[in-house]
Amino acid sequence: MEQVDVVVVGAGVVGLAVARALALNGREVMVLEREAGIGMGTSSRNSEVIHAGLYYPIGSLKARLCVQGRAQLYAYCEARGVAHRRCGKLIVATSASQLAALPALVEKGHANGVHDLALWSAAQARALEPQLQCLGAVHSPATGIVDSHGLMLALQGDLEHPGGLVACHAPVRALRASLGGVEVEMGDGTLLSARTVVNAAGLHACALAAQTRSIDPSRVPKPRYAKGSYFTLAGRSPFQRLIYPAPEPDRHLAGLGVHLTIDLGGQAKFGPDVQWVDDPADLQVDPARAEAFYGEVRRYWPGLPDGSLQPAYAGMRPKISGPGEPAADFLIQGPAEHGVAGLVNLLGIESPGLTSCLAIGEHVARLLDQAAAP
Ligand SMILES: Cc1cc2nc3c(=O)[nH]c(=O)nc-3n(C[C@H](O)[C@H](O)[C@H](O)COP(=O)(O)OP(=O)(O)OC[C@H]3O[C@@H](n4cnc5c(N)ncnc54)[C@H](O)[C@@H]3O)c2cc1C
Repeated sequence: MEQVDVVVVGAGVVGLAVARALALNGREVMVLEREAGIGMGTSSRNSEVIHAGLYYPIGSLKARLCVQGRAQLYAYCEARGVAHRRCGKLIVATSASQLAALPALVEKGHANGVHDLALWSAAQARALEPQLQCLGAVHSPATGIVDSHGLMLALQGDLEHPGGLVACHAPVRALRASLGGVEVEMGDGTLLSARTVVNAAGLHACALAAQTRSIDPSRVPKPRYAKGSYFTLAGRSPFQRLIYPAPEPDRHLAGLGVHLTIDLGGQAKFGPDVQWVDDPADLQVDPARAEAFYGEVRRYWPGLPDGSLQPAYAGMRPKISGPGEPAADFLIQGPAEHGVAGLVNLLGIESPGLTSCLAIGEHVARLLDQAAAP
């Protein structure tokens, strides 16, 4: 049986960032990806937003890793020439209840370490974004956008430079605890023996964890899938900054509301909405969903012309909480949680996973160091 030091399952942005962190720590890393290339899952079907970190419960992994990861990501993009733009965002209130909730959002942001938020009046917001309709807004200057594929290529380069490798067309079928590590069974039945395995299989991470012989299946949450569709806007973007609706107080939404993002080429898109589905491969955009988008978007941009939204693409949120429930935190299970030495499961790595990827990489490297300490 072939012996390897570290196997990372999944070459999405998180798997690549974890592999990079371990390779930079001197580990010999092999990334196993079932698709033909890197980043063909959720990592290429998202909003490409570098989040500031204001929404997440205080003290949660999402809050900590997003704030830390955002700073690391901007520095990394600068250093490695990955395209990005710190364009800022406005979180806009269009109802009295949303307006009343804005100060609490700013306070939560401060508690999470986001210290540059400002409450703006409707007039201040409109002075910079004349097409906007709102009662007030929170300005987040630290929010930005990134070329996610460029980022993944840079991460791949960093992990390959010290000798790591990414193998594509390499599906992992099962994992099991073995003497001195974890046995990896490949789709074709080949076996590898690894000292360390990191399960970063995104939408399939819960299934792989549940199939791991020697893990109590009751410790693995049920995977849930919340599809998010996007529609692009024909013509020029009416806004310079990203525009997000303010969260409705006391409602557990599975997403951040239908927002406007701008890509690095200046194309505006709206989305993602939320549609709970059973099949994680259900990624077709239903053009009929546009109708609801017009209503949502016109709350903050009444000028949205009829017929201007075109179906674009959809992404699938790898959730571990269901409809109506509070969003679960990232679940990073090491040997202390599941009892298998050398194994780390990354479960429920939904947004802000892209923003947090470098911080998740460091977190996993630390967790493995601690587990290995005598
Ligand atoms: C609609 C949407 C919008 C989002 N917007 C943002 C945003 O603006 N900002 C932000 O920070 N985050 C955002 N996110 C979250 C972010 O995209 C994810 O957290 C991140 O991409 C997760 O990366 P990953 O590497 O864990 O998963 P993935 O990118 O899904 O990678 C997992 C990889 O594992 C592979 N794989 C699966 N099973 C196996 C197996 N058995 N063997 C081998 N390989 C396997 C898959 O093929 C895939 O390549 C968004 C997510 C969605 C769905």
